[in-house]
Amino acid sequence: MEFCEKLKEEGKIKYLGFSFHDDYEAFEYILKYRDWDFCQIQLNYMDTDIQAGLKGYELTEKLGVPLVIMEPIKGGNLANYPESITEHFDAVTPGMSTASWAMRWIASLPNVKVVLSGMSNMDQVKDNLETYQDFKPLSEAEYQAVDQVVKELNSRAKNGCTGCEYCLPCPAGVDIPRNFSIWNGYGIYSNVGETKWRWGQDMKEEAKAKNCVECGQCEGLCPQNLTIIEDLKKLQEELDSL
Ligand code: SF4
Ligand code: SF4
Repeated sequence: MEFCEKLKEEGKIKYLGFSFHDDYEAFEYILKYRDWDFCQIQLNYMDTDIQAGLKGYELTEKLGVPLVIMEPIKGGNLANYPESITEHFDAVTPGMSTASWAMRWIASLPNVKVVLSGMSNMDQVKDNLETYQDFKPLSEAEYQAVDQVVKELNSRAKNGCTGCEYCLPCPAGVDIPRNFSIWNGYGIYSNVGETKWRWGQDMKEEAKAKNCVECGQCEGLCPQNLTIIEDLKKLQEELDSL
């Protein structure tokens, strides 16, 4: 930090901030460590309780540290839903793209100053520009529509794993919460491409569900009383078939 602060004094750094991916406790520690000019976190309406989360957002507001946002559309996951879900949006404000709801939700938070959106074609660029031209924060009715969508998306999860990790360590090396996170993500967003990548490339073979030897140790430790052994079998088959 001393080196960076010296560069700032010399005018070589104009704004000194940090980008963050870890849990809330680490975030609070770093945010309070010094008087930052800005910081950058991952936040969207489906990720309010992970990493810094909304609690972290509130702390930045309290400390007056402006925010840059990553993953406002969660890697595209918040851009494509079936009609049974988008109808909640259309009932309140019809004609807007699904992605624009996520972009408006995040920019409606007053301490959000910059939103980083990865765009892969001209239509997405146009849509984002339209969303932020004459920007209007979400109304109360629109917030309620987002809450309804969040509820319905979460109800599509395959099981109720919260990622608490009480079931770990597994003697056979199975990363139980990670297996369930991929399976549940697939259930919620039906994003085949992302799921294939997370399952096929981002997950070690030795941590996959298939290594379970059915010792039963984890099931007694799970506060959600999940049928872990049975669910592991189901997910291995389902994800392998993608
Ligand atoms: S039942 Fe399977 S997943 Fe659970 S602790 Fe035993 S080997 Fe690991
Ligand atoms: S204890 Fe249960 S809820 Fe917690 S991570 Fe393990 S399977 Fe998921």
